[in-house]
Amino acid sequence: MDEYFERRRRMVEKLKEELNISDRVAEAMLKVPRHLFVPPEYRREAYNDYPLPIGYDQTISAPHMVAIMCELLDLKEGMKVLEIGTGSGYHAAVVAELVGKRGKVITVERIPELAKRAEKTLKELGYDNVIVVVGDGSEGYEKEAPYDRIYVTATAPDVPPPLIEQLKEGGKMVIPIGNFSQYLYLIEKKKGKIEKRNMGPVRFVPLIGKFGFKD
Ligand code: SAM
Repeated sequence: MDEYFERRRRMVEKLKEELNISDRVAEAMLKVPRHLFVPPEYRREAYNDYPLPIGYDQTISAPHMVAIMCELLDLKEGMKVLEIGTGSGYHAAVVAELVGKRGKVITVERIPELAKRAEKTLKELGYDNVIVVVGDGSEGYEKEAPYDRIYVTATAPDVPPPLIEQLKEGGKMVIPIGNFSQYLYLIEKKKGKIEKRNMGPVRFVPLIGKFGFKD
């Protein structure tokens, strides 16, 4: 058991109390060592519930946001999931726990240095069901489409059309939309059309790309 386990256990207990998260999501978060996804100088803060800098003006999302997004996605064993915005790779690792070895997570990151670091961390921790891709995730990742679930960890001006196309019929997507005021949306694809539900205000870094904001 690593020395951070007790801190991690307390973080998950607090999330359970405050957000009423499911046992499945709690167990997944209990397994992933968040302190190994942050720069060494932030390790001692890794189990506090806020975002932390990971370099290149980017952040690892706060644990409660990872928990909320995982709950909304309703992830099941064996699912194929697309994440836009790898960042540290932490959220992808939690999702990888939830979809299991029969499932697959494809995660796209626009900053090559972050992608490389995340790939290394994920590999060292044995997450061989996660594939890290460098590119503009606002265009999705056609090569592995369609996906059971898609989630975006940076705020977009609107839902990028390629992401709707690459989502399976009956699939779900979670995405923050907006600039100064941002809201998290749960999207479901039914008969080729999308149903959009506003799940409340959030704060994310911008999605930069063809169907995102301009650099
Ligand atoms: N999920 C991450 C984690 O667990 O550490 C946090 C991601 S951070 C809040 C958002 C990430 O989205 C940043 O790393 C940023 O570089 C990336 N990003 C922004 N625009 C992007 C795009 N068009 N395609 C792929 N990644 C993008």
